[in-house]
Amino acid sequence: MHVYDHPTFHMACRQFDLVADHLDIPANDRDRLKYPKRALTVAVPVRRDDGKVEVFAGYRVQHHLALGPTKGGMRYHPDVTVGEVAALAMWMSWKCALMNLPYGGAKGGVACDPTQMSIGELERLTRRFTQELIHFIGPQVDIPAPDLGTNEQTMAWMMDTYSVHAGQATPAVVTGKPVAIGGSLGRREATGRGVSYLANRAMDTIGLNANEATAVVQGFGNVGSVAAYSLARYGVKIIAVSDAFGGTLNARGLDLGKLQKHVARTKSVAHFPGGESISNEQLLVTPCDILVPAAMERQITAANVNQIKCRILAEGANGPTTPDADLVLDQRPDVFVIPDILCNAGGVVVSYFEWVQDLQSFFWSETEITDKLFRLLENAFTQTLHLSRKQNISMRMAALSLGVARVREAKKLRGLFP
Ligand code: NAD
Repeated sequence: MHVYDHPTFHMACRQFDLVADHLDIPANDRDRLKYPKRALTVAVPVRRDDGKVEVFAGYRVQHHLALGPTKGGMRYHPDVTVGEVAALAMWMSWKCALMNLPYGGAKGGVACDPTQMSIGELERLTRRFTQELIHFIGPQVDIPAPDLGTNEQTMAWMMDTYSVHAGQATPAVVTGKPVAIGGSLGRREATGRGVSYLANRAMDTIGLNANEATAVVQGFGNVGSVAAYSLARYGVKIIAVSDAFGGTLNARGLDLGKLQKHVARTKSVAHFPGGESISNEQLLVTPCDILVPAAMERQITAANVNQIKCRILAEGANGPTTPDADLVLDQRPDVFVIPDILCNAGGVVVSYFEWVQDLQSFFWSETEITDKLFRLLENAFTQTLHLSRKQNISMRMAALSLGVARVREAKKLRGLFP
């Protein structure tokens, strides 16, 4: 499958091969489980504000269809490729299965730099991209959500474009929408809230007191900022945060209220007067109790893993740790890893709640949603920890094993067509 050639796809395949060896999956079943079911590449022509027409590459990959429609985010970033999206779709499959959600994994995106585009350009891009995907998505087919570089507004445009095509409001076609048009209470906060809930569970597990703990967060978007604020609510001191423009460190603890105002004003955490400047490389190796990578893939690698000085690695981002770094972490019992497919699953869980609410046109309170979210996360955390201890395997191997085994079981029961 050379079409997916990309370091992140190779990384996801390598992880899968290790899990397949561990589960002793026969050769006949492996490629069927590993490779995406289908992928669509589209050209997205957009009229820029200066009148020029620029064509962007857009992608959507659906990994497997054995358990229901596919589900996954849409990413707007200059580095988006079909291979990166395929890797993220594969991880979504294992994540949905780990959480027992009736979905296969999907992912999509456009290779563009949303920070260099006006609102009007982003709207035209999103509407045209959605139109190109119109027969590939749908409430019972494939349900997009926000990811890196996209947000509630992006989902509102997608929902509107699809609805115009369908001739009726179809909120269940996307999740992560604004609440006013069928979004779910608590969806915006779900991923970061889940990260901090699980970090708190990990603190209990290793005997760390939240009021004495410190945290460092890489990425201050939807996931990273909510994770930072909700960890602080548990009593954790946030000592450093960063984004694509740089980072800020204050060993006595950052004043998050002032930081929020600084971000609202400057759109970045960089140059925050309440801390000293720090690079993303320095941030990752800053001594702390909880390290939350919440930006991009492949941040913790063989090159820096030995310098990581945390007790808990709470993976808010997808794929932040490479398999080479994992080999080192496997030999470091001092670091408790909450693997990405578990740690950031809060987003897809509340997306699932949003989809269910849209389909039945009956909406729940935020308290109901957060309770249900924590119950599902608790269950998955306990199962993963139990398997990891029982089989003496890493938390990542345990989480992936649970996810892959469930997809395999579904495929086995449904059989091979024809
Ligand atoms: P976002 O666009 O809201 O925020 C991303 C943040 O990362 C921004 O602060 C950006 O400046 C920063 N960033 C980008 N490149 C960086 C770099 N090289 N170094 C440091 N910081 C950098 O995106 P998000 O929704 O918060 O997603 C972040 C990660 O979490 C992604 O890996 C995404 O796949 C994953 N994730 C998101 C959700 C969700 O519900 N949004 C759910 C599960 C997983």
